[in-house]
Amino acid sequence: MIERYIRDVPDFPKPGILFKDITPLLANAEGLKATIDALRDCVSPDDYDVICGVESRGFIFGTALALSVGKGFIPIRKPGKLPWKTASESYELEYGTDTIEIHTDAIEHGSRMLMVDDLLATGGTMEAAIKLVRKIGAEPVASLFVIELDFLEGRKRLDVPTHSLLHVG
Ligand code: IMP
Repeated sequence: MIERYIRDVPDFPKPGILFKDITPLLANAEGLKATIDALRDCVSPDDYDVICGVESRGFIFGTALALSVGKGFIPIRKPGKLPWKTASESYELEYGTDTIEIHTDAIEHGSRMLMVDDLLATGGTMEAAIKLVRKIGAEPVASLFVIELDFLEGRKRLDVPTHSLLHVG
C-alpha cells in the first residue's frame, strides 16, 4: 500500500544513486494516513515520552506521529539553525563530515525518546542522532523509519531496537 507511493529517482542527487522520493506519499491523504498509522503500531506509546526527528524529512513523519499519539516533538537540526544553547555530534560521510545539533534543554533528564527519520541508509545519521540525545541526558528507546535500504546494513550501527515499514534490497 505505502510502497506504491514511493518514487524511484535514478541519479539523484548524484550519478549512481537511486533516490527514494517520498513526496508522492505525502501528497496522498490515504497513503499518508496509512504511513502514520503503521508507524504508530511499531512502538507502544507507553514506551516513550517524546519523539525526536532528524532534519528534514524526519520532521514531517515525526511531528505527524507525535500529534497522532499525543506526544511532543523535538527537532535535530543542521548546524547554525537552532537559536538556543546546543549540543552537537559530527559523523563521517562518504566525502567529509556532517554535524547535527539539538537544544541542550530540549527534554527533561531521562526522557525516553523515540527517534524518527524517513529513511535508513548507512545508519550514520541515526547513529549520530542517538549519540546526540544521550549527550543531553535522554534515553533513545527505539528508532523508526518509513524505508530501510537493507543492503547497506545500517541497522547494525544502531544499538536500539529498529523498525522500518518498507525494506528495499
Ligand atoms: P544514512 O546516514 O546513510 O543512513 O542516510 C540517511 C539520511 O539520508 C536520512 O536523513 C535520509 O533522509 C537521507 N537519505 C539517504 N538516501 C535517501 C533516499 O534515497 N531518499 C530519501 N532520503 C535519503
